[in-house]
Amino acid sequence: MEFHNPKEECGIFGIYNCDDAAGHTALGLHALQHRGQESAGIVSFDGNHFHIQKAMGLVSEVFSGDAAENLLGCMSIGHVRYSTSGDTITRNIQPLVADYTLGGIAIAHNGNLTNAWTLREKLVNKGSIFQSSTDTEVIIHLLATSIKERTLDRFIDAISHVQGAYSIVALTRKKLIGIRDPHGVRPLVIGKLDNSWILASETTALNIIGAEFVRDVEPGEIVWFDSQGMNSLKPFRERKSKFCIFEYVYFSRPDSKVEGLSVNEVRKAIGKELAKEFPVEADVVLPIPDSGVPAAIGYSHESSIPFDMGIIRNHFVGRTFIEPTQEIRNLSVKLKHLPCMSSIVGKRVVLIDDSIVRGTTSKKLIDMVRQAGAAEVHMRVAAPPTASPCFYGIDTPTEEELIASGEAKIDSIKEFIGADSLAYLSIDGLYRAVCGNNRNNKMPQYCDACFTKEYPIRLVDQKAKKHESLMLEVSDERKSKTRRKKK
Ligand code: AMP
Repeated sequence: MEFHNPKEECGIFGIYNCDDAAGHTALGLHALQHRGQESAGIVSFDGNHFHIQKAMGLVSEVFSGDAAENLLGCMSIGHVRYSTSGDTITRNIQPLVADYTLGGIAIAHNGNLTNAWTLREKLVNKGSIFQSSTDTEVIIHLLATSIKERTLDRFIDAISHVQGAYSIVALTRKKLIGIRDPHGVRPLVIGKLDNSWILASETTALNIIGAEFVRDVEPGEIVWFDSQGMNSLKPFRERKSKFCIFEYVYFSRPDSKVEGLSVNEVRKAIGKELAKEFPVEADVVLPIPDSGVPAAIGYSHESSIPFDMGIIRNHFVGRTFIEPTQEIRNLSVKLKHLPCMSSIVGKRVVLIDDSIVRGTTSKKLIDMVRQAGAAEVHMRVAAPPTASPCFYGIDTPTEEELIASGEAKIDSIKEFIGADSLAYLSIDGLYRAVCGNNRNNKMPQYCDACFTKEYPIRLVDQKAKKHESLMLEVSDERKSKTRRKKK
């Protein structure tokens, strides 16, 4: 079986006991759009039937006009998804819906199962037929093949087989269910709006519908909402919480509260730490919008260097198709960002971004700021070097594509992006900004694998893949030896 590793950056939402469940879900998905822009979907249940609407595109495109009108019922779940182009197939759009012995079920998830491929291979060998390449379907098959009698017991049974980082929302004929992985890597919050219960990836999705925040779903917790109200169970062995620190750096929206902390405040604190660790003589602090803005405000406060918006982002570019000629490509650099000359000309600039991944954004924008007349450009990055890919649900390129992977030296990155100086926040600086303490190196408080290469959850499929490619190499070697002998 071919190894398949869909990288899923997603946002999930669910609502129970609401007159217009689908309408509220569509609003929730709008607020979660930053977590995935490739496809959107909602499934509702009206007491008799599941109703499904899902397609490639933004929430506003998939649910424009009266598109959500046929999604009847008082409970629904929704999903926004981004994945790399190789996995861009319509059958992967979530939520997935299936019928099994206990009735219909709809399910959507955010994150990656690190043993999905291994489980899938076992299931296929036993006769399962898969329709998509998304990890969610593995969970559906585990539910279907479990011999437990009650839905919740089947969930517990299914989840006990999976490893990885995941938050799940599911809809049965009677319940809305939410599950967070035992390390709580990906977020999931509970909200309440009058008599309705809500599950969402981030609190911003509660704010948009006027719901109050109740609490985070705890790591390893299963919550469900039915005619009895809210219920909860923690059926698995307690694990050390490993929330994803990159949610604070980049992924979550600044207006969200994540694990009790305001993302905006954390990002400003990150900027302050960065200014303490790497001060520089300069005239102006400019963020790379949008994600660099709060850290740049923090850097400016701490350093007393004035903040300005020297780079303006065009929010309407979307997924515009660009003619692939070199001339147009060169011009299109300015499609997303344009310089605001008055805040740049003749100035020593500190440019702040949340992270450098491949280095192309920084290179492009430093060049733009220089051409706009900056006297000096100093790059400050509001996170440690992104050194390793994420296997837990954040889309990052392969290790080879990451500019800071392997033996990469800061000096050579500085040369590549064309900055006068370059500095990254230290890992301890990042921890101090998030939780007030340095990193506990023996038992890190967060998942920070993208910066440290220390993966807290076993990468079962990666090991299996390595093993399989080694086996292929051995068998190729044997084949060529046999061929040589025959000659
Ligand atoms: P690059 O040009 O590859 O160095 O990308 C750097 C930019 O990508 C920064 O401005 C970040 O805000 C943004 N970024 C960082 N991580 C991600 C991610 N996982 N998905 C999309 N954008 C990201």
